[in-house]
Amino acid sequence: AKHAGKNKYAFFTEAMQANTTRALTLSNALHDALEQQEFTLHYQPQIALDSGKVVGAEALIRWHSKTLGAVSPGEFIPIAEESGQILAIGEWVLRETVRQLQQWRSEGFAPIRVAVNLSYAQFQGNDLPTLISGILEEYNVPADYLELELTEHIATNNPEHTIEILKAFQQLGIQTSIDDFGTGYSSLSYLQRFPVYKLKIDQSFVRNMTTNTNDHIIVGTIIVLAQQLGMKTIAEGVETKVQLDLLKSIGCDDIQGYYISRPIPADEFKDRYLQSDRN
Ligand code: C2E
Ligand code: CA
Ligand code: CA
Ligand code: CA
Repeated sequence: AKHAGKNKYAFFTEAMQANTTRALTLSNALHDALEQQEFTLHYQPQIALDSGKVVGAEALIRWHSKTLGAVSPGEFIPIAEESGQILAIGEWVLRETVRQLQQWRSEGFAPIRVAVNLSYAQFQGNDLPTLISGILEEYNVPADYLELELTEHIATNNPEHTIEILKAFQQLGIQTSIDDFGTGYSSLSYLQRFPVYKLKIDQSFVRNMTTNTNDHIIVGTIIVLAQQLGMKTIAEGVETKVQLDLLKSIGCDDIQGYYISRPIPADEFKDRYLQSDRN
């Protein structure tokens, strides 16, 4: 028994060591990633359930490291958050999104709103609204083309400060939504004080809502809650027609998910979803 215990311990240390090594490797590779232009953005369409039309997109970062190959954001974003590198990466994402919006506009496509994910570190301090309005001005892009997603966890981490920053975005005319909604702990009293436009229903509930009564009830409750608060709803992770129909029947506004499209490169998004503005 003593022997097994020792092996178990050794196993855990090795696993932890491997994790730390991988994290260090990624953190080092991230150091050059911006300069080496290893990041791109993919865009995933968002559809309005009443019209079936594309009303927006979410920008999702992709990293193809010259030394490590493709690394998923689920793996490297937490590491970049830990190391502080997320601030520079997050600024690149904002600038690249706005630059792309400007380019599509100059090519004569009808405007579409693109949502960008924000990390907690970007919310600290008071610089974010200034940074973003500066980028919009730099590219001469109207504020309502941009949407900002913050997770429910960010929103509730430091609610008073979050409310201040959200008010600044509201004043700038930039829409905001609460991502991964339902996975955190926002109290009703805070939620009604958050000046956000939309609740994004977490994909974990959407995944099982056609088979699990509890998840069905949760999604329905979030939609009613949003309606009471004057907010819109978007369901993410929609993979089937059955999910789409159910969401439509219970009053969800918009959907996003593989059933419509995976996140795709900018040019592909343009070819498949953007409409000419010249007519
Ligand atoms: P998220 O913001 O919740 O983004 C949704 C994730 O679900 C994306 O994964 C998307 O590709 C995936 N997805 C979309 N539709 C479906 C579907 O129908 N089924 C399934 N199973 N998945 C679907 P992705 O692109 O790997 O991003 C993972 C997470 O990384 C994001 O979760 C977000 O938290 C973070 N992330 C991605 N890009 C950025 C970024 O530019 N900045 C920051 N701060 N975080 C980002
Ligand atoms: Ca998101
Ligand atoms: Ca999400
Ligand atoms: Ca998520």
